[in-house]
Amino acid sequence: MAAASLLRDIFGFDGFRPGQEDIVNAVAAGENVLAIMPTGGGKSLCYQLPALMLDGITVVISPLIALMRDQVRALREAGVEAGALTSGNTDEETEEVWEAIEQGRLKLLYMAPERLASGAALGMLRRIGVSLIAVDEAHCVSQWGHDFRPDYLRIGELRRSLNVPLAAFTATADAETRDEIVQRLFDGEAPQNFLHGFDRPNIHLAFAAKDSPRKQILDFAAARKTQSGIVYCGTRAKTEALAKALRDEGHNVLHYHGGMDPEDRRFVETRFQREDGLIVVATVAFGMGIDKPDIRWVAHADLPKSIESYYQEIGRAGRDGAPAETLTLFGPEDIRLRRSQIDEGLAPPERRAADHARLNSLLGLAEALHCRRATLLKYFGETSCETCGNCDLCDTPPEIFDGTEAVRKALSAILRTGEWFGTGHLIDVLLGNDTERMRQKGHDSLPTFGVGQEYDKRQWQAVFRQMMGHDLIRPDPERHGALRMTDDALPILRGEASIDLRKDSIRKATRRPAVKA
Ligand code: ADP
Ligand code: ZN
Repeated sequence: MAAASLLRDIFGFDGFRPGQEDIVNAVAAGENVLAIMPTGGGKSLCYQLPALMLDGITVVISPLIALMRDQVRALREAGVEAGALTSGNTDEETEEVWEAIEQGRLKLLYMAPERLASGAALGMLRRIGVSLIAVDEAHCVSQWGHDFRPDYLRIGELRRSLNVPLAAFTATADAETRDEIVQRLFDGEAPQNFLHGFDRPNIHLAFAAKDSPRKQILDFAAARKTQSGIVYCGTRAKTEALAKALRDEGHNVLHYHGGMDPEDRRFVETRFQREDGLIVVATVAFGMGIDKPDIRWVAHADLPKSIESYYQEIGRAGRDGAPAETLTLFGPEDIRLRRSQIDEGLAPPERRAADHARLNSLLGLAEALHCRRATLLKYFGETSCETCGNCDLCDTPPEIFDGTEAVRKALSAILRTGEWFGTGHLIDVLLGNDTERMRQKGHDSLPTFGVGQEYDKRQWQAVFRQMMGHDLIRPDPERHGALRMTDDALPILRGEASIDLRKDSIRKATRRPAVKA
């Protein structure tokens, strides 16, 4: 199977994180690879995915037994044959791993480095058809580092003896450690190096709440006439409608989506590649194969699926390094749509819960209080300056107020109703609305009933949205999307922490009702 479909079907991700795709391709092509990625950046996928693309077994060497066990469990849940040989195994577990190896089923074999100390292990690995060695925490081979593991020194010998490609991963980026890794794991022969900063400093980042969405996109495009750009839409129908609206304004525009004939799609791709100043209004189907260096802007008419998709889609702009601009619109309907797409999916509850958490992170980025880029890079595990000077929030810092009181009221409404309800009913409780359901559930006698009348419905929606952005609450797929509190909310509830909210999204909510696109 191709990398992209494995990514979706096995791992449940809708896009690669920065750097992953190139690394996956290199590893799957049999290159020796040294990849440096920040912690949390997504290193494990970079060997797990190629392991599924290659014939035979991928041996993963990792120093952390608990981590190996976690990964094996997660892989198995996703239907991948994985096993670990560690000192923590029961005999039964070891037996199971051997059986899978002998039946030729096993795809990933995790091993603690200590195992390499016995000659038997080497003989065993020689027999079972290993096609790739993946080394996690490769800096453990460095004798001068804090994490030195003497057994890591045996990995070089293992590679020589098996004569298969090796992919080494670490978050430690200093040149000395890198040199040591190359010396000891690759016998000094330079592997293909991946040292990615995730930042794309030439891309200006901006988000805006949907106010009059069509006009917002038209204005954005009008200010960039004759420049090549992409507008991403959430639906196929919308690509056609928005393309027409842009055309009516005198732009050179084509639309693109997965429902079009392959020929028509190719026509759009080729024209976009060759022409200057063309706008393509598209679904996310557009862009995979596009390699146009001078795309000057990317706009999202609807909220993307996740931060990963957002990064991938805006990342198509400004590949030439010259300034490029982006604008991402979002509104309550987008969030509702994304939530229901997750809930209606066939994924197991755990994966849906993870998707909701990821969507929360995207809302956190959309309603960030400080530098957009710093927030984005932090999500990918990379530390950066606190302010980038090239995003909307650095341009104009948002007005912030102490939202602790409002958040506590909302949390209390959630808890007092047993964490069994969605935003609609919870807001009714806060506003003291006398609905059928209210009386039926007896919620009109709760102490929280009617305590939130300082805000109206739209303002409360904005508060809930920001609470999701701070990951204080998440919909529970096993409770029909009812909102539940996360542990992060506890200190606020107990009065031990306060929380800032953005004023603009709450104020705007009353001043101007949203206009449908
Ligand atoms: P690392 O080993 O680099 O510290 P992990 O491999 O443990 O990072 O990944 C960190 C987190 O990122 C995990 O929760 C993983 O599920 C998530 N992740 C990895 N790749 C992706 C992706 N392409 N899309 C979404 N989430 C991802
Ligand atoms: Zn910034």
